[in-house]
Amino acid sequence: ETLLDLNEVGHTYRTRDGGGVEAIRSVTEQVRKGEFISILGPSGCGKSTLLMMIAGLLPTTRGAITLGGDPVLGPDPDSGIVLQDAVLFPWRTISRNIQLPGEIAGMPAAQRQARADELLSLVKLDGFGGAYPRELSGGMQQRAAIARSLMLSPSLLLMDEPFGALDAMTRDEMNVELKRICLEAGATVILVTHSISEAVFLSDRVMVLGNRPSTVREVVSIDAPRE
Ligand code: ADP
Ligand code: ADP
Repeated sequence: ETLLDLNEVGHTYRTRDGGGVEAIRSVTEQVRKGEFISILGPSGCGKSTLLMMIAGLLPTTRGAITLGGDPVLGPDPDSGIVLQDAVLFPWRTISRNIQLPGEIAGMPAAQRQARADELLSLVKLDGFGGAYPRELSGGMQQRAAIARSLMLSPSLLLMDEPFGALDAMTRDEMNVELKRICLEAGATVILVTHSISEAVFLSDRVMVLGNRPSTVREVVSIDAPRE
């Protein structure tokens, strides 16, 4: 069952001098429900550009994207997004940071709190709901950001180098946790990374982008079962 459909998707940035930077030329790809896909490629090849288009945060200048059959025309509560920096609000507790998308969507307080507790447990932050972001390590903050992105049970989870700012050992631990979280949540995930080993460890399939302007050069299926 196809969840996400990219049909000859491209983006050219307009520059101030009237020129253009073609970051993505044409990407055609389907993502099935429950798949974990990595977008892999060197710096500047257009990975973030592609992810931002999928998130509806950047328009396509070519082609079309559908999520669950509906065209992606703007930010969609059906996709959750996690960036390199957790960007938690420092004056809110971890639980209230996680609840934020629920507040914006008008979810009743009791329901939000119950969902936050469930998510705190999923990301192994039980007992930290009342803490403030500064009291948590970088890895814990990123786990809180993942919990926040799952608040509205998005059908698609998008991550741009979510652990890129962490040291290598913490990153390994986080990737093990991420794999478990995504399996437990049954999430469909698209992860941007420049690390081949990270992509191989986490994904079912890897989309390899070449140098700019990017088209998909290769889609590699990872045979090892995820467990
Ligand atoms: P990656 O995530 O793979 O590092 P990006 O998607 O960030 O790559 O960028 C792809 C290309 O588009 C790069 O050459 C970058 O310089 C260019 N680019 C990104 N954002 C803009 C922008 N706002 N205006 C012009 N060019 C941009
Ligand atoms: P980089 O070149 O970006 O520093 P590496 O290619 O050295 O990255 O490794 C990238 C990351 O892949 C590791 O830091 C880790 O997050 C992930 N990774 C690879 N194999 C495993 C594994 N067996 N368990 C957990 N994480 C792994």
